[in-house]
Amino acid sequence: MGKAEKGSHGNSILTGKDKRCYVTGRTEGLDKHHIYHGPGWRSISDRNGFWVYLWQPLHLAALGGLHKYPNSGLDLELKQACQRKFEETHTREEFMEIIGRNYLEEEAEREERPEGGFYLLDEMEEEG
Ligand SMILES: [Zn+2]
Repeated sequence: MGKAEKGSHGNSILTGKDKRCYVTGRTEGLDKHHIYHGPGWRSISDRNGFWVYLWQPLHLAALGGLHKYPNSGLDLELKQACQRKFEETHTREEFMEIIGRNYLEEEAEREERPEGGFYLLDEMEEEG
């Protein structure tokens, strides 16, 4: 058989196939969390492996998880960790083409937003 030409689909770029909570290492009570979430973003996150498993209390807004505090705390940490990981093998430009936003501000040089190329992410909450 030829070599499996497997894309990142199905694998998390942070944890591969490892089905355990990214934070606690737990293997039960897990949800798949799409790191860049919101309407229309699940499939983009899926396609690029931008997801991790999280223990539900760390995930669900109703349980005080990260969806309760978007773009801060663990949610932001994951967005940064994922971007950092992606940029080990890709350029920032490539990341920006996919996500349209740079989460590594502390490492970023002052960049101008490309005209018309800046996507406003709708941060409406959606479990995912
Ligand atoms: Zn989620």
